[in-house]
Amino acid sequence: MVSQHQTQAAGLSYAARRAKLREAVFGGKNPPDALLIVGAGNLFYLTGFTGSFGALLLTPDAERFLTGGIYATQAQGEVADMPIVVNPVLKEFGETVAETAQELGVRVLGVESSVSLAWLQGMRKPLRKAKLRLKPVGAPVEKLRRIKDANEIARLRAAAHIADATYEHIQRLFQPEIAEWDIAMEIDFYIRRQGAYPAFDTIAVSGERTALPHGKPTERRLQKGDFVTVDFGARLDGYCSDMTRTVVIGSASPEHRRLYTAVLDALNRAIEAIRPGVKGKLIDTLARQTIESHGLGDYFVHSLGHSVGIAVHDGAGLSFRDKKPLEAGMVLTVEPGVYVPGFGGVRLEQMVLVTPDGCELLTHAPVALRECGE
Ligand code: ZN
Ligand code: ZN
Repeated sequence: MVSQHQTQAAGLSYAARRAKLREAVFGGKNPPDALLIVGAGNLFYLTGFTGSFGALLLTPDAERFLTGGIYATQAQGEVADMPIVVNPVLKEFGETVAETAQELGVRVLGVESSVSLAWLQGMRKPLRKAKLRLKPVGAPVEKLRRIKDANEIARLRAAAHIADATYEHIQRLFQPEIAEWDIAMEIDFYIRRQGAYPAFDTIAVSGERTALPHGKPTERRLQKGDFVTVDFGARLDGYCSDMTRTVVIGSASPEHRRLYTAVLDALNRAIEAIRPGVKGKLIDTLARQTIESHGLGDYFVHSLGHSVGIAVHDGAGLSFRDKKPLEAGMVLTVEPGVYVPGFGGVRLEQMVLVTPDGCELLTHAPVALRECGE
């Protein structure tokens, strides 16, 4: 049974998350008989399982966790509150999934629309054999994951704190003759040393290369007159942080200042405007108009921000696509940038938690223009 004691002590109940999911899926019109979850991030969210391979089968009143022998022992430790079905080593996993559903009396199996074509093809035979029909149910887990609970917010805060500490740690490398690659290495090493993992491939670019929004670090050495942009994050206890800062090596020129001021202005205005009820796309528009007002509208070539959580890009965010009102409990990045080919670019990225009356910064490293290595 559920180890209520432990889960409540951690302020975390996977069973409560599954109850919410059931309500959303089985409470609707024409619900399926069961729901099958296979994405690793969703499995982690709903059960605490940290492996890369498994499936969660939910009916209105039963649940099974399925995995292979490689994770059998781990699943027994991590998913302590439901029966675990281990796929025999010489059997296709899909067959075990289909048979388990059949045993529970399932005829119509709800499946997330994020499953791959390869997965569907692999399931065709086992489903036919078990007389099961698939029914797409959209992305109900991602919908729940948009709003973070207290346990998730605590983990996101801790991951953001590592990002701040990492930025502080690398300040001494912002000087002429240091290579982009060495900055990226030091960022990754520092994050790992804190017991975390880099949440994505670290970006460290300099000079004209700062005009590449997602440039890869090279052996290029910093020199006076360079912009340097670092974009990195830590994954700690399954949750990610994401932060970007841009500095100038030596003294900033008027052009450096013009770009930097535009981006900082857009960042500040967007953060001031974030609160529940406002649509994400309006915040994106506001940042875009601010950058336009500085005469740099052609150079802001991506969305303003994204949701962060178990995934670095965790669903909805701040882009023209985000037509739903923001809600308290969302964690978002705000990352305006301008990229001028042949000169360089600036991006500043903060992580914020939407609160009932506005938003709270989760990243705290300073955003004022820094002139380094003088
Ligand atoms: Zn980033
Ligand atoms: Zn980001």
